[in-house]
Amino acid sequence: MSDVVSMRFNYGNEAPRQFEDFSATALYCPKCKQAMPVRERLLLILPDGELYEYLCQNCGSSVGTKKVSGSSRVRIGL
Ligand SMILES: [Zn+2]
Repeated sequence: MSDVVSMRFNYGNEAPRQFEDFSATALYCPKCKQAMPVRERLLLILPDGELYEYLCQNCGSSVGTKKVSGSSRVRIGL
């Protein structure tokens, strides 16, 4: 009975294309002392989204995190 739920179902039917959202390519790494290419790693699954960690591709240090809203991941029925 909710328009919001209907809209989220539509989004949920789309194939996951998360790479398009993760456009961060370089972040400052305190160890390398310069902006370095990073890769994302899923850190936590939260009730309302997911927390990703950015790791320096050179030294593997964590250089940041990103929270992705769960709006594209539908979990209805619980
Ligand atoms: Zn580094």
